[in-house]
Formats: sequence, structure tokens, C-alpha cells
Amino acid sequence: MVHIVGAGPGDPELITVKGLRYLKEADVVIYAGSLVNPALLDSCKEGAEIHNSAHMTLDEVVATIEQAEAKGRMTVRLHTGDPAIYGAIQEQMDAFSKKNIEYDVTPGVSSFLATAAALRQEYTLPGISQTVIITRNEGRTPVPEREKLKALASHQATMCIFLSITMLDKVVEELIAGGYGADTPIAIVQKASWPEQKIVRGTLQTICEAIKDKNIDRTAMIVVGRCLGADYELSRLYAPEFAHMFRKASK
Ligand code: SAH
Repeated sequence: MVHIVGAGPGDPELITVKGLRYLKEADVVIYAGSLVNPALLDSCKEGAEIHNSAHMTLDEVVATIEQAEAKGRMTVRLHTGDPAIYGAIQEQMDAFSKKNIEYDVTPGVSSFLATAAALRQEYTLPGISQTVIITRNEGRTPVPEREKLKALASHQATMCIFLSITMLDKVVEELIAGGYGADTPIAIVQKASWPEQKIVRGTLQTICEAIKDKNIDRTAMIVVGRCLGADYELSRLYAPEFAHMFRKASK
């Protein structure tokens, strides 16, 4: 059996209770070494076989799991954040299915949510934006034309941009070209939830200058939208005059 587990964004306490239990029980662990906090591996049982997938191809990962399966061993495939977001797990799951290897998925705290926590920010503010767009700028992996930042920017929603910090100039250019004003607030969070977490805030106009000399070149989330520092409306959920299934109106 293979358990695909979301390791969370970095802080070892941000893995789920279930994910940690699987990790403690695993005979074989294959972890995404570029981003998973190695401190999590301290929870593995003695003698567990540990592989860093940063040095492996898909075929090698699958072959390692096949060998473990043949010996009746349990494998944890540990991915950063939540495995469903830029985790490249579909191809692994399809390979497992083809080989009749049983597997399941345990979700994790994605870095875009750890970023909200670091910023102490709600992404969905009434009157400002009720939509969060999770996306990336085009890199070596192509992005469909209809999903280019410029096109998505027309919604003026809260946007969490993964995998793009090295292209910040281009990101800002596309966002402005797509419709965000140059004064739209933007925040960069590097290594959210890690001890070395860094936050830089600015506007689309100022951010490129603001992150110069900050040594932010990887593992960073870009958040843009008027929710950052906005004058928003109070939520309906807690408004006194607003009744719902669990509370009568008090005004
Ligand atoms: N599955 C992961 C994302 C993997 S893609 C998740 O759900 O978070 C890798 C990208 O995620 C990085 O380039 C960066 O944009 C983002 N990322 C991962 N960990 C992060 C962290 N702790 N803080 C900020 N961004 C992070």
C-alpha cells in the first residue's frame, strides 16, 4: 500500500495527524527533498528506508515502490504542501493503477494557506473579492493561453501565484497589463511557516524594487489583490441582523 501524504508547507507541526501516523508507520519513505522539511523524517521508525525524490526519475520512484510492494512493505510518498497542487502526482497515481498498486491520498496544508496565515490575511473579503485564483507564470511548464496571468488579472480577484518568484518583473507586467492598477497591494512570502520565513509587502509599482537585496529567489508565494490592506465590508455571517441555520437575528 502506498500513502501519498501532504507534508504541509514546512513547519513540521503542520502535517495532518493522519499523515504523521502514516509517516511513523512507513517502511519506505520517498520525500520531495527540495521542499519537504527534513525534520519530518525524524518521526520515521528506526530502519525505515528513506529516499529523496529530488534525485530520482518517475520510473525510479515507481520501481522503488514496486520493490517495496513485492516485500509487503508500506510506502509513504511525501509531497510538499498539498499533493494536488503542482505535485505531479497524477502520473504517479496512474502508474500505480496500471501496476495494480493500491494507494490513497492524505491532503496537506498548502503553502498558499500558510502564506495567508503568515500575512494574517483573509483572502475572501466581502465587497473586495470572493474568489482566490491559484496559478503560476509560464516557466518550463507551459500555461494554456486562456489562463495567462494577463487574462486572469481581468477578474481582479485575490491571486496566489506559485513557482514564479524568479520572474517577478514579468508577473508584475502581466498583472498590470491585465487590469490591476499599479497601486494594487502585493505581498511576497518566502518559506511561510519555516523559522526563516520572510515577508515583503508593496504595490505592483514598488515590489520589484522592494525585494532587491532581500535574497528571495525560491520557495516564495506571490499574493496580489485588494484584500491586502483593504477597507472591506463586515461579513454577513456574524452580522447581528443576519439569521442563519444556527443563529436567530438579534437586531
Ligand atoms: N504542493 C505545494 C506546491 C509545490 S510547487 C503546495 O501545496 O504548497 C512549489 C512552489 O510552492 C514554490 O515555488 C512556492 O511558490 C510555493 N511554496 C512551497 N512552499 C512554500 C512556503 N513554505 N512558502 C511560500 N511558498 C511556498
